[in-house]
Parts: sequence; C-alpha cells; structure tokens
Amino acid sequence: MSFWFNEKNTDGYQVKWKINKILHSEKTPYQELAVVDTLEWGKALILDNALQVSEKDEFIYHEMIVHVPMFSHPAVHDALIIGGGDGGTLRELCKHSQLQKVDMVEIDERVVVASKKYLPSISSAFGDPRVNLYFQDGIEFVKKAGKYDLVIVDSSDPIGPAQLLFTQEFYSNIYNCLNDDGMMVVQSESPIFYQEVFRSVYRNIKAVFPQTLVYLACIPTYVSGPWSFTIGSKVHDPRELKGDIKAGFDLKYYNDKVHQAAFALPGFIQDMIRE
Ligand code: SAM
Repeated sequence: MSFWFNEKNTDGYQVKWKINKILHSEKTPYQELAVVDTLEWGKALILDNALQVSEKDEFIYHEMIVHVPMFSHPAVHDALIIGGGDGGTLRELCKHSQLQKVDMVEIDERVVVASKKYLPSISSAFGDPRVNLYFQDGIEFVKKAGKYDLVIVDSSDPIGPAQLLFTQEFYSNIYNCLNDDGMMVVQSESPIFYQEVFRSVYRNIKAVFPQTLVYLACIPTYVSGPWSFTIGSKVHDPRELKGDIKAGFDLKYYNDKVHQAAFALPGFIQDMIRE
C-alpha cells in the first residue's frame, strides 16, 4: 500500500510526495520526526511535516553548504556545526584532511539516532575521531563556545526550536566565537517563497559581519527555484577560491566553476538585499 504525503510550504502552495512506506515515526521532545521511503527521492527525513533531506538530492545542499566556505577560507582547522542532525554536512566537512576538530551541536538526539539507523549514506561520518557531538540548544552553546575558523548553521526552518537561529543576536554570538579571519555560513531559505526570512537573515548578518555574501543552488526537494545560503566573513572574500578542489575529493555537484557561478545573483534577488 502507498499513499501521498502533503508538504504545505505556504498557505497557497504545497507539494505531494508519494510514500512507499513509513519506516519510522515518533514525537521527540522537540518535534515530530518521520523517516519515509518515497517512490521518487529514496528515503527522506521529515521534521514537523517539512522534508529535510532526501537520499536523491541531499548531495547538492550538503556539498554547497560545506565546500563553498571551506574552499574560500585558506585553513579551516576547527569547525562548528549547529543543527545538521542527519549528518550530511558533517560527512562533507570530514572530507577535508586539514580539519582537526569538528564540534556539532544538535538539539534533538533522536534525529541523529534515526539518521544513523535509516540514512547510513548520509550519516556516515559520526564515527570520525575529529567529531565531538553535543546534544544541546545551539543558541546557548554559542554564548560560551571556544574559537572556530568556520561555523555552519544547518538549521531547520525558522519555526519551533530553530526560530532563534535566524536572529542578529545569534549571529553576533557566532561572530564572537570565530577566529580573527573566521567565517559563518547559514542556510537562508528560499528567496522566492520565504522572502521576508531571506531578507532578514541578510540584514541580520550584515549588521554583524564586515562581508555578507549570498549564493544560490537549486535543490529540487526544497520548494522550487533557487535556495539561498548566506556567508558572514570577517576577512576572506568567499567568492575567491583558496584551495585545490581536485585534491582527491568525491564530489557530485560542487566544483570551481559552480563555486563562482553560485554567487551570480539574478536582478530581483540583488534588489531584495540592496540597501
Ligand atoms: N538541511 C535541512 C533543511 O534545510 O531542511 C536541515 C538539516 S537538519 C535535519 C536541521 C536540524 O536542526 C534538525 O535536526 C533540528 O533538530 C536542528 N535544530 C533545530 N533547532 C536547533 C537548535 N536551536 N539548536 C541545535 N539544533 C537545532
């Protein structure tokens, strides 16, 4: 027996996914969690009725949130991930041999447990010896964290536990736990479907960091059209490549041309972030 899962993106737009089987479903202390087997996209993680990752296209999001900052900073040794419980961002980060330590702060342990069990191709790096996993609220963690070269905010949408991960105060706390030439990247939602969130993330980061740059990628399972990422950087221009991408990396989406092209913004998106 199969059925359709309706994901409501806005009051006037929803997407339907054909589900072969519900593999797991539970109410955690933070959110409704499900892992499903879809007809089209492989297995997928759903939190509070919003699709988070699918096996078929997760590489686009995870390669772009990790390798764009990693190849535009000359030497990331210490990194912090906020959120990212499925492990995809961690998997990409751990491909970088210069990385010495990754702290990952996920509020909901159950997301990690379910991803390890049902999504092994995504959650494959939790055993890396450089990884320290903390099950805490990222908001509190960054108020007293140590110093990092890169912070990646791989959050769910700005509802429930992730709401405060989109505020100026949070970005300011991240600024304080970055080294002098540190960088932060956040997933900043769809500039078409969630215009106000996209604009306010940009404004909030720009109020804190000397350089704020937006880049785009199309991720089919995230609404439709481009998805945005926003970088706050203390020193380095994220449009400039600093590393050698061909150094034995197993990549399906990211490359040097994609890196440069991702920062080319269509006029209507430039207008949205013009002062
Ligand atoms: N790539 C996905 C997307 O954009 O839909 C999101 C990846 S990941 C599943 C998001 C994670 O952020 C979730 O596992 C959620 O539990 C976690 N999260 C939400 N709020 C958080 C907070 N305040 N501190 C730490 N992690 C949080």
